[in-house]
Amino acid sequence: MEPLHLTRCSINTATLGHRDPIAVTIDRIAKAGFGGLAPWRHEVEGADVSKIARQIRALELKVTGYCRSTYFPASTEEQRLANIQSNVRALNDAAELGAECFVMVVGGLPEGSRDLSDARAQVQDGIGALLEAARKLGVRLAIEPLHPMYAGERSVINTIDQANALARELDPHNDGFLGIAVDVYHCWWNPQLEAAVSSIGKDNRILAYHVSDWLVPTTDTLLDRGMMGDGVIDLKGFRQSVENAGYARMVEVEIFSRDNWWKLPPDLVLQTCAERLQSVC
Ligand code: ZN
Repeated sequence: MEPLHLTRCSINTATLGHRDPIAVTIDRIAKAGFGGLAPWRHEVEGADVSKIARQIRALELKVTGYCRSTYFPASTEEQRLANIQSNVRALNDAAELGAECFVMVVGGLPEGSRDLSDARAQVQDGIGALLEAARKLGVRLAIEPLHPMYAGERSVINTIDQANALARELDPHNDGFLGIAVDVYHCWWNPQLEAAVSSIGKDNRILAYHVSDWLVPTTDTLLDRGMMGDGVIDLKGFRQSVENAGYARMVEVEIFSRDNWWKLPPDLVLQTCAERLQSVC
Protein backbone atom coordinates (compact mmCIF):
# COMPACT_ATOMS: atom_id res chain seq x y z
CA MET A 1 0.00 0.00 0.00
CA GLU A 2 1.26 3.46 -0.97
CA PRO A 3 2.12 5.76 1.94
CA LEU A 4 -0.38 8.61 2.15
CA HIS A 5 0.71 11.86 0.60
CA LEU A 6 -0.75 14.91 2.33
CA THR A 7 -2.23 16.15 -0.92
CA ARG A 8 -4.53 13.12 -0.67
CA CYS A 9 -5.53 14.07 2.88
CA SER A 10 -8.23 16.37 4.13
CA ILE A 11 -9.06 17.96 7.47
CA ASN A 12 -12.58 18.06 8.78
CA THR A 13 -12.71 21.45 10.49
CA ALA A 14 -14.28 19.91 13.63
CA THR A 15 -10.81 18.47 14.27
CA LEU A 16 -9.63 21.98 15.20
CA GLY A 17 -12.58 22.56 17.53
CA HIS A 18 -14.19 25.37 15.53
CA ARG A 19 -12.22 27.96 17.46
CA ASP A 20 -11.31 30.27 14.58
CA PRO A 21 -13.34 31.86 11.80
CA ILE A 22 -13.52 29.54 8.80
CA ALA A 23 -11.27 31.81 6.70
CA VAL A 24 -8.43 31.40 9.22
CA THR A 25 -8.97 27.65 9.39
CA ILE A 26 -8.87 27.32 5.60
CA ASP A 27 -5.52 29.14 5.45
CA ARG A 28 -4.07 27.01 8.24
CA ILE A 29 -5.06 23.77 6.52
CA ALA A 30 -3.60 24.90 3.19
CA LYS A 31 -0.39 26.12 4.79
CA ALA A 32 0.07 22.78 6.56
CA GLY A 33 0.11 21.07 3.16
CA PHE A 34 -3.21 19.25 3.15
CA GLY A 35 -5.10 18.79 -0.08
CA GLY A 36 -8.59 19.37 1.24
CA LEU A 37 -10.99 20.20 4.01
CA ALA A 38 -14.53 19.46 5.13
CA PRO A 39 -16.31 22.47 6.62
CA TRP A 40 -19.47 22.58 8.75
CA ARG A 41 -22.67 24.43 8.02
CA HIS A 42 -22.57 26.57 11.16
CA GLU A 43 -19.22 27.97 9.99
CA VAL A 44 -20.42 28.63 6.47
CA GLU A 45 -24.04 29.69 6.92
CA GLY A 46 -23.18 32.72 9.00
CA ALA A 47 -20.54 33.90 6.53
CA ASP A 48 -20.29 34.81 2.84
CA VAL A 49 -20.49 31.46 1.06
CA SER A 50 -19.15 32.71 -2.30
CA LYS A 51 -16.21 34.35 -0.60
CA ILE A 52 -15.37 31.11 1.24
CA ALA A 53 -15.70 29.17 -2.01
CA ARG A 54 -13.32 31.59 -3.77
CA GLN A 55 -10.75 31.27 -0.98
CA ILE A 56 -10.90 27.48 -1.17
CA ARG A 57 -10.53 27.49 -4.96
CA ALA A 58 -7.65 29.97 -4.86
CA LEU A 59 -5.77 27.64 -2.50
CA GLU A 60 -6.62 24.65 -4.71
CA LEU A 61 -8.17 22.74 -1.83
CA LYS A 62 -10.77 20.03 -2.38
CA VAL A 63 -13.92 20.05 -0.26
CA THR A 64 -14.18 16.39 0.69
CA GLY A 65 -17.56 16.81 2.35
CA TYR A 66 -19.99 19.40 3.63
CA CYS A 67 -21.22 18.64 7.17
CA ARG A 68 -23.97 17.84 7.73
CA SER A 69 -27.66 17.19 7.07
CA THR A 70 -30.45 18.41 9.32
CA TYR A 71 -31.88 15.30 10.99
CA PHE A 72 -34.80 13.89 9.03
CA PRO A 73 -37.14 12.24 11.58
CA ALA A 74 -39.68 14.56 13.18
CA SER A 75 -42.80 14.22 15.29
CA THR A 76 -44.92 16.44 13.03
CA GLU A 77 -45.39 16.56 9.27
CA GLU A 78 -44.62 20.29 9.28
CA GLN A 79 -41.26 19.70 10.96
CA ARG A 80 -40.48 16.78 8.68
CA LEU A 81 -40.94 18.98 5.61
CA ALA A 82 -38.99 21.83 7.21
CA ASN A 83 -36.07 19.44 7.76
CA ILE A 84 -36.06 18.50 4.09
CA GLN A 85 -36.17 22.18 3.07
CA SER A 86 -33.26 22.94 5.37
CA ASN A 87 -31.29 20.19 3.65
CA VAL A 88 -32.12 21.55 0.20
CA ARG A 89 -30.73 24.96 1.27
CA ALA A 90 -27.56 23.28 2.52
CA LEU A 91 -27.22 21.43 -0.78
CA ASN A 92 -27.13 24.78 -2.58
CA ASP A 93 -24.22 25.85 -0.40
CA ALA A 94 -22.53 22.48 -0.93
CA ALA A 95 -22.79 23.07 -4.69
CA GLU A 96 -21.32 26.55 -4.40
CA LEU A 97 -18.43 25.18 -2.29
CA GLY A 98 -17.81 22.46 -4.87
CA ALA A 99 -18.20 19.78 -2.18
CA GLU A 100 -17.50 16.20 -3.24
CA CYS A 101 -20.50 15.18 -1.14
CA PHE A 102 -23.09 16.37 1.36
CA VAL A 103 -22.59 14.29 4.51
CA MET A 104 -25.84 12.90 5.80
CA VAL A 105 -26.08 12.18 9.50
CA VAL A 106 -29.71 11.20 9.34
CA GLY A 107 -31.02 11.69 12.87
CA GLY A 108 -32.32 9.50 15.69
CA LEU A 109 -35.77 9.04 17.20
CA PRO A 110 -38.03 12.09 17.31
CA GLU A 111 -38.70 13.30 20.85
CA GLY A 112 -41.01 10.98 22.77
CA SER A 113 -40.91 8.26 20.09
CA ARG A 114 -40.01 4.60 20.53
CA ASP A 115 -40.80 3.77 16.93
CA LEU A 116 -37.46 2.96 15.35
CA SER A 117 -38.94 1.61 12.12
CA ASP A 118 -40.97 4.81 11.65
CA ALA A 119 -37.83 6.90 12.16
CA ARG A 120 -36.05 4.75 9.56
CA ALA A 121 -38.97 5.13 7.15
CA GLN A 122 -38.81 8.93 7.60
CA VAL A 123 -35.10 8.86 6.84
CA GLN A 124 -35.70 6.87 3.69
CA ASP A 125 -38.45 9.26 2.52
CA GLY A 126 -36.31 12.28 3.39
CA ILE A 127 -33.30 11.08 1.43
CA GLY A 128 -35.58 10.13 -1.45
CA ALA A 129 -37.02 13.65 -1.43
CA LEU A 130 -33.53 15.17 -1.51
CA LEU A 131 -32.13 13.05 -4.30
CA GLU A 132 -33.69 15.00 -7.18
CA ALA A 133 -32.32 18.31 -5.84
CA ALA A 134 -28.92 16.67 -5.39
CA ARG A 135 -28.86 15.50 -9.00
CA LYS A 136 -29.91 18.92 -10.27
CA LEU A 137 -27.24 20.67 -8.23
CA GLY A 138 -24.59 18.06 -9.00
CA VAL A 139 -23.91 17.28 -5.34
CA ARG A 140 -23.54 13.68 -4.18
CA LEU A 141 -25.36 12.55 -1.04
CA ALA A 142 -23.23 10.48 1.33
CA ILE A 143 -25.12 8.56 4.00
CA GLU A 144 -22.85 8.19 7.01
CA PRO A 145 -23.75 5.17 9.15
CA LEU A 146 -23.10 6.00 12.80
CA HIS A 147 -22.08 3.63 15.60
CA PRO A 148 -25.23 1.99 17.08
CA MET A 149 -24.72 3.84 20.37
CA TYR A 150 -26.06 6.92 18.53
CA ALA A 151 -29.31 5.32 17.34
CA GLY A 152 -31.38 7.19 19.92
CA GLU A 153 -30.15 10.71 19.26
CA ARG A 154 -28.15 11.02 16.06
CA SER A 155 -28.62 8.27 13.53
CA VAL A 156 -30.94 5.34 12.98
CA ILE A 157 -28.61 4.18 10.18
CA ASN A 158 -25.96 2.16 11.98
CA THR A 159 -24.13 -0.14 9.62
CA ILE A 160 -22.64 0.03 6.15
CA ASP A 161 -24.94 -2.77 4.98
CA GLN A 162 -28.00 -0.90 6.24
CA ALA A 163 -26.91 2.29 4.44
CA ASN A 164 -26.22 0.30 1.30
CA ALA A 165 -29.63 -1.39 1.35
CA LEU A 166 -31.19 2.07 1.57
CA ALA A 167 -29.05 3.41 -1.27
CA ARG A 168 -29.91 0.44 -3.47
CA GLU A 169 -33.60 0.82 -2.81
CA LEU A 170 -33.73 4.58 -3.46
CA ASP A 171 -31.28 4.59 -6.35
CA PRO A 172 -31.13 1.12 -7.92
CA HIS A 173 -29.30 2.22 -11.08
CA ASN A 174 -26.70 4.31 -9.24
CA ASP A 175 -26.03 7.40 -11.31
CA GLY A 176 -23.39 8.45 -8.78
CA PHE A 177 -25.44 10.74 -6.56
CA LEU A 178 -26.18 8.48 -3.60
CA GLY A 179 -23.44 6.70 -1.70
CA ILE A 180 -21.88 6.17 1.68
CA ALA A 181 -19.34 7.92 3.90
CA VAL A 182 -17.26 5.32 5.72
CA ASP A 183 -15.97 6.54 9.09
CA VAL A 184 -13.59 4.22 10.92
CA TYR A 185 -14.88 5.41 14.30
CA HIS A 186 -18.39 4.20 13.51
CA CYS A 187 -17.58 1.02 11.63
CA TRP A 188 -14.38 -0.54 13.00
CA TRP A 189 -16.16 -2.96 15.38
CA ASN A 190 -18.20 -4.67 12.64
CA PRO A 191 -17.31 -8.39 12.36
CA GLN A 192 -18.39 -8.29 8.69
CA LEU A 193 -16.50 -5.09 7.90
CA GLU A 194 -14.41 -6.45 5.03
CA ALA A 195 -17.43 -7.88 3.23
CA ALA A 196 -19.51 -4.73 3.80
CA VAL A 197 -16.78 -2.43 2.46
CA SER A 198 -16.15 -4.70 -0.49
CA SER A 199 -19.85 -4.75 -1.34
CA ILE A 200 -20.27 -0.94 -1.39
CA GLY A 201 -17.03 -0.71 -3.33
CA LYS A 202 -18.40 -3.06 -5.96
CA ASP A 203 -21.48 -0.84 -6.17
CA ASN A 204 -19.18 2.17 -6.55
CA ARG A 205 -20.79 3.91 -3.60
CA ILE A 206 -17.88 4.83 -1.30
CA LEU A 207 -17.92 8.64 -1.36
CA ALA A 208 -15.76 9.49 1.66
CA TYR A 209 -13.39 7.88 4.16
CA HIS A 210 -13.04 9.45 7.63
CA VAL A 211 -10.29 8.60 10.10
CA SER A 212 -9.66 9.08 13.82
CA ASP A 213 -9.12 6.42 16.51
CA TRP A 214 -11.07 4.61 19.22
CA LEU A 215 -9.51 5.25 22.61
CA VAL A 216 -9.50 2.66 25.38
CA PRO A 217 -11.04 3.71 27.64
CA THR A 218 -13.30 6.23 25.90
CA THR A 219 -14.47 8.83 28.40
CA ASP A 220 -17.12 10.52 26.22
CA THR A 221 -18.87 8.74 23.39
CA LEU A 222 -19.19 11.90 21.30
CA LEU A 223 -16.29 14.15 22.19
CA ASP A 224 -13.43 11.80 23.08
CA ARG A 225 -12.25 10.55 19.72
CA GLY A 226 -8.58 9.75 19.48
CA MET A 227 -5.80 10.91 17.18
CA MET A 228 -4.86 8.21 14.68
CA GLY A 229 -2.41 5.83 16.32
CA ASP A 230 -3.55 6.53 19.90
CA GLY A 231 -6.32 3.92 19.94
CA VAL A 232 -7.18 0.40 18.85
CA ILE A 233 -8.37 0.70 15.23
CA ASP A 234 -6.26 -1.09 12.61
CA LEU A 235 -6.08 1.99 10.39
CA LYS A 236 -3.70 0.58 7.81
CA GLY A 237 -5.85 -2.54 7.51
CA PHE A 238 -8.98 -0.41 7.17
CA ARG A 239 -7.49 1.75 4.41
CA GLN A 240 -6.33 -1.38 2.64
CA SER A 241 -9.95 -2.62 2.70
CA VAL A 242 -11.41 0.60 1.24
CA GLU A 243 -8.67 0.78 -1.39
CA ASN A 244 -9.14 -2.89 -2.28
CA ALA A 245 -12.79 -1.95 -2.76
CA GLY A 246 -11.73 0.66 -5.32
CA TYR A 247 -11.74 3.80 -3.17
CA ALA A 248 -9.32 6.38 -4.58
CA ARG A 249 -10.67 9.62 -3.11
CA MET A 250 -9.21 11.47 -0.14
CA VAL A 251 -8.66 10.45 3.48
CA GLU A 252 -10.38 12.90 5.83
CA VAL A 253 -9.39 13.38 9.47
CA GLU A 254 -12.37 13.95 11.76
CA ILE A 255 -11.58 14.15 15.47
CA PHE A 256 -14.01 15.43 18.11
CA SER A 257 -11.85 15.82 21.19
CA ARG A 258 -13.14 18.40 23.64
CA ASP A 259 -10.68 17.78 26.46
CA ASN A 260 -7.55 17.06 24.49
CA TRP A 261 -6.98 18.10 20.86
CA TRP A 262 -9.44 20.98 20.96
CA LYS A 263 -7.33 22.53 23.72
CA LEU A 264 -4.05 22.34 21.84
CA PRO A 265 -2.77 24.93 19.34
CA PRO A 266 -4.42 24.32 15.94
CA ASP A 267 -1.09 24.23 14.10
CA LEU A 268 0.20 21.54 16.47
CA VAL A 269 -2.97 19.51 15.87
CA LEU A 270 -2.48 19.80 12.11
CA GLN A 271 1.18 18.84 12.36
CA THR A 272 0.26 15.77 14.44
CA CYS A 273 -2.46 14.80 11.94
CA ALA A 274 0.10 15.08 9.13
CA GLU A 275 2.63 12.87 10.93
CA ARG A 276 0.08 10.22 11.89
CA LEU A 277 -1.56 10.12 8.45
CA GLN A 278 1.84 9.32 6.99
CA SER A 279 2.92 6.83 9.65
CA VAL A 280 -0.09 4.87 10.97
CA CYS A 281 -2.92 5.30 8.43
ZN1 ZN B 1 -17.41 11.01 9.90
